[in-house]
Amino acid sequence: TPPLLDIRNLSVSFDTYQGQARVLDKASLSVRHGEIMGLVGETSCGKSVLSRSILRIIPSPPGRIDGGEIFFEGQDLLKLPRTAMRKLRGERISMIFQEPMSSLNPVFSVGNQMREVVRSHRPVSRGEANAICLEMLSSVRLPDPESVLAAYPHELSGGMRQRVMIAMALTCRPALLLADEPTTALDVTVQGQILAILAELAASQGLSILFVTHDMGVVAQLCHRVAVMYAGQVVEVADVESLFARPAHPYTQGLIASIPGRTTGGELYAIPGSVPSCLAPPPGCRFHTRCTHAGPDCSRAVPEMVRVASDHSVACHLCPTGGAL
Ligand code: SF4
Ligand code: MG
Repeated sequence: TPPLLDIRNLSVSFDTYQGQARVLDKASLSVRHGEIMGLVGETSCGKSVLSRSILRIIPSPPGRIDGGEIFFEGQDLLKLPRTAMRKLRGERISMIFQEPMSSLNPVFSVGNQMREVVRSHRPVSRGEANAICLEMLSSVRLPDPESVLAAYPHELSGGMRQRVMIAMALTCRPALLLADEPTTALDVTVQGQILAILAELAASQGLSILFVTHDMGVVAQLCHRVAVMYAGQVVEVADVESLFARPAHPYTQGLIASIPGRTTGGELYAIPGSVPSCLAPPPGCRFHTRCTHAGPDCSRAVPEMVRVASDHSVACHLCPTGGAL
């Protein structure tokens, strides 16, 4: 069966005062039915732009999708009329963000906002909408759903608000949840609880999740597969076991070495240098300015994505071609 979501060669630019920045350059990845796919990389590598492009919610202008395809349930979302896209949002694909306060209205109770979401998608009475809300809040393991519905957003903790957002996002039972750093603002214990809820929802409802994060520890804990992004490009895709056991791209190797507790004594490893600007990305392999393995080819030719194992692809000149994709 084809994957639920299949992004092919997606390119996105932003106009800036200094010129045009290619923030996504031919990025490809897929999300299968019922899987949790991690999308990992440093700040401003393009991962949030990628997840927002799926819903076509990047600000435009200054943003622009230059090319590529986003296949979802058999149709290219980039070719969908606006009205069809609007219907798909929230019903087939939902999104949660890092700061739930930005998506909740402070002047209305949680119940008020949740019932409105339910009734905007389904022809139900107020009482029926209320029952659906209670059921959704229970599914994200919020104790005492009745009092959560009566509460105002500021009366809830950050972790509770994020659970409310997940419940709201899943109201219409979407096939795909886009989660952009949803646990980054939470403390480790609450983060663990939210991750457990997402894993449970994926398993029990067959929900697919694209989980955007900069945290390799979260990837290891939650994801089935993972795509690694660097400077607007996807450089490695693998099942999570292979990625941690046999990272093939030097950048991925650096990310894994920098996970706290991974290094054997001594200082925490940090990849030297910083992410290059999208205004003038380095030629050849974009990582060559920071790569300790870089050879003469690396600044000349862009490495192609090649398959190194059945569920493992990488874009690096060091990797022998097992067969170009
Ligand atoms: Fe390093 Fe070259 Fe591989 Fe890029 S292609 S990651 S510079 S070895
Ligand atoms: Mg981001």
